[in-house]
Amino acid sequence: MGTAWIPGAERLGSGTIGGPMDHPERPARVVWHTTESGAGPSAFHTVGNYLISVHSEPQVLYDPTTDRIGQYGPLTQSARALKNCGTTRNNRVGAACIQIEVLAHASQPFTAYWRPGPNFRALMAAIRSFGIPDAFPMGIPARSVAGCRREESVWLTRGGHYGHCNVPGNDHWDPGAIDPGKLFAAAPGTPPAGHTSATGAATPGTAGCVPFPGTAFFQAGRHSPIVTAMGRRLVAEGCSAYTHGPGPQWGEEDRRSYTLWQRKRGYSGSDADGLPGRTTWEALRVPKD
Ligand SMILES: [Zn+2]
Repeated sequence: MGTAWIPGAERLGSGTIGGPMDHPERPARVVWHTTESGAGPSAFHTVGNYLISVHSEPQVLYDPTTDRIGQYGPLTQSARALKNCGTTRNNRVGAACIQIEVLAHASQPFTAYWRPGPNFRALMAAIRSFGIPDAFPMGIPARSVAGCRREESVWLTRGGHYGHCNVPGNDHWDPGAIDPGKLFAAAPGTPPAGHTSATGAATPGTAGCVPFPGTAFFQAGRHSPIVTAMGRRLVAEGCSAYTHGPGPQWGEEDRRSYTLWQRKRGYSGSDADGLPGRTTWEALRVPKD
C-alpha cells in the first residue's frame, strides 16, 4: 500500500471524502483535472471550499504558480471528482485512483508555465509509492473537447496517469494538453519497479509486442509501421521530441525521442544515443497492431 498522506500537504475539509476502492485488484492510477480558475491564495481558498460545497473533492488541490498543495482525504481511499460510467464507479477503480485538481485552465496547459517545487516532488513520490508508472496509457491529454480518448478497456486495465478527458462516461476535457515529459522530469528519482529495467528490475512479458528488430534496422530512410508504433509508445511514455508525427519514416525526431526514453530508463552518455537496443526496446512494449 502506498503513502496515504503527502508529507507537508495542508489538510483541507474534514479529512474524509470517499471510501474504500471497489476494484483494488486493478492497477493504481492518477487522474489530472484543472479547476478552470485562476491560481494564487484567494483561488486556493475559494475554489478549495467550493469543491467541498458541491461534494466534488479530489484528494489533492495544487497551485502550479506557488507549488502549494492541499489534501482532502487519504490517497488510499476514493475521491469524488468523477462521474460514474453506467454501473462503474470511476472514483473507485484501481488499488488507488489519485485525483489532482490543478488551479489552472485546460486551454492554457499548466506545464507551460508552472514552477514545480518540493511539494510537487512529494506528490510524485507519493504517486510512485503506489507503483504507478510514469506513463499516460491513452497518450497526452486532449488539446480540445474533440478528440478525447476514453476507451474503457484501457481505463479499467492499465495503471498510470490519465486526464479527466480520458475517463469513460465523463465529458470534461481537462486538464488540456499538458506535457507528460515535464511532469516526470520535475520528479527526479526512480520510477516504480516493474516498469524499470536499466537496473535489471523485472519487466512485464512481451507477448503481443514487436520483437527487437536489431539496432541496424533504425537507419536513415527506414520506412515501417513499426517506427510509427514505436513513436506512439514514446509519446505515451512522455518521451516526445516530435514537432509533428510520429510517422513511419525513421528520422532525427524519432532518435531524439528515443534518447529521452533511454534516459528515463536510467541510461546516460553514449548509452542514450537514441538508437534502440534490446533492453529499452523490450521495456517500451511496442504493440504489434
Ligand atoms: Zn475534471
